[in-house]
Amino acid sequence: MPCTIKNPANIDLSVLEPHVQGMYDYFDHKLSFKKPPTMIFGSDPSNQSSVLGKTAYYDPTSLEIHIYSDGRHPKDMLRSIAHELIHHQQNLEGRLDVGGYSGPGYYLENDKLRVIEHEAMLEGNKLLREYEDTIKKESKDMSLKEWKNNELNQLIMKKFGILKESQELDELSNNKNHHNAHRGNNQQGRLREDEEVAEEDKKPMEKDTDDEVPAFLKEGDKFIINKNLSETIQKALKIAKGK
Ligand SMILES: [Zn+2]
Repeated sequence: MPCTIKNPANIDLSVLEPHVQGMYDYFDHKLSFKKPPTMIFGSDPSNQSSVLGKTAYYDPTSLEIHIYSDGRHPKDMLRSIAHELIHHQQNLEGRLDVGGYSGPGYYLENDKLRVIEHEAMLEGNKLLREYEDTIKKESKDMSLKEWKNNELNQLIMKKFGILKESQELDELSNNKNHHNAHRGNNQQGRLREDEEVAEEDKKPMEKDTDDEVPAFLKEGDKFIINKNLSETIQKALKIAKGK
């Protein structure tokens, strides 16, 4: 069952929303939530200016996850949601209300609540990373397939004399490069990066990708990426569910 998303902050959720639903589905598959939460993207500009301000909270009575969304990186918001989804599960299992002090600084004061918080920190980040890598692996396989199809198309075109002169090949390649530069976050462009990574598999540990900021996207690009993304998420979830 998909969760309800409300957006009173009226932020642009076009790129983030498929991931919010996709990540929720992934968590739901792993944790089997008895009830879905409602996710609310709110705005509080005074909180934004506070370095140690709030990022998100969970309301155990209304089953609402509130996300402070002013000026946030989308992945940072996903991390907040992942954390609160674990609190949601703890609440549905009747484990969230441990009693004792729960005011500011509770983490240092309340041992039972600290255990609950540790679980949310660990499990939330862990499942988010699993979701992320499932998606990345699936989209890499997909872009490899697309790339192979393109190479195949060129071979076929050459064989049937559609591509004869080197000039035409150059034109095609120029157009392709221009197109890639245009699309920014293009999957073919990414493929080369991925291949390089694959060749360097001996590296002890893959670099943390937390600082991987998506390039600025135009409306058309968002549409293409979202279309690919929802297909990728569906495929990845199917694979995850088969396990
Ligand atoms: Zn927490």
